[in-house]
Amino acid sequence: MKRNNLKFNFLSLTTGVALLILVAITNQLTKNQYFTQEIYPKIYHKIHSNYSGFFDFLSFSLGDVLYLFLIVFLIYKISKGLKEIIQKEFLKALKIFSQILFFLMSFWVIFHWVWGFNYYKKPIIRSVRTEIPLDDLKSMALQHFERAKRYSEQNLEFMPDSSVKVSLFSPLMRYFGVTGYFNPFSGEAQRVGKIPLLQIPFTNAHELAHQKGWAREYEANYIGYTNASKGDIPSRYSAEYAAMNYILREIYAEDSIFVRNIINEFPPKMQVDRAERIRFHEKYKGIADEVFTELNHYFLKSNNQTEGIKSYSRFVELLHQDYLKSKDLAH
Ligand SMILES: [Zn+2]
Repeated sequence: MKRNNLKFNFLSLTTGVALLILVAITNQLTKNQYFTQEIYPKIYHKIHSNYSGFFDFLSFSLGDVLYLFLIVFLIYKISKGLKEIIQKEFLKALKIFSQILFFLMSFWVIFHWVWGFNYYKKPIIRSVRTEIPLDDLKSMALQHFERAKRYSEQNLEFMPDSSVKVSLFSPLMRYFGVTGYFNPFSGEAQRVGKIPLLQIPFTNAHELAHQKGWAREYEANYIGYTNASKGDIPSRYSAEYAAMNYILREIYAEDSIFVRNIINEFPPKMQVDRAERIRFHEKYKGIADEVFTELNHYFLKSNNQTEGIKSYSRFVELLHQDYLKSKDLAH
């Protein structure tokens, strides 16, 4: 074996071992209460206050460009590896696939350190799902409906939020049924282009909540709702509509007539917005949407959100807690 080759092998072996140690440490830390509750939130606070919005001066999403490079790089490497297998160059193939593995491992480690540990923070909700009485759900739905209705009659001129960028992958994302996402590597929040206006402020608020370190979907929904419902009129309208929608979805299985009746009471502006939302959903729903939902389900499950996509709707439980508090105050 040539001297150079020997040096190279030693280097890749050391890198491999170092990476494995990093993976093991990171994995161990996800299980360490003191680290996830006390230390990491402080680290993330520093990351967030110094780097979130760091790339706001760019009008496009740098994170998206980064993802694009990664995808192209991975496709290139995998096809090269497969070519070596076909040509029976197994050692060369092994080298390429171990490079891919190293790469994915580093990606996983970096993901956790720049944001992913937020998934392990103490949830802002009890771990056991609580059954919400149907009557409570109904009066909550009515409250949010009344607010949405009031805002729908005001000036809803939409102001774009410069801290949320339009995704470069918008056409694809629309078919995946995605309205926005947060890129932990660049700290940028993205929303998908051409989604119904009604959904934009709530989507923005949801992604900005992720950026603040609220990793779980229902937390991002709830913090997003709380912030948007104190924002300008379009934000309030969007937030109240979204909250109402989530609650109506919960009610639907129990009392679909109640849901129908509320929808029939929508004022004209809300009717138009609802129709646009349905039209949008119908246009893009399809196989990609189902595949993505399934993938997202497993992504969430693998990141400490044991309920997968159901976790979005636990938002209603948090709204219920607020509802109970406000009811107590009224007495
Ligand atoms: Zn989210």
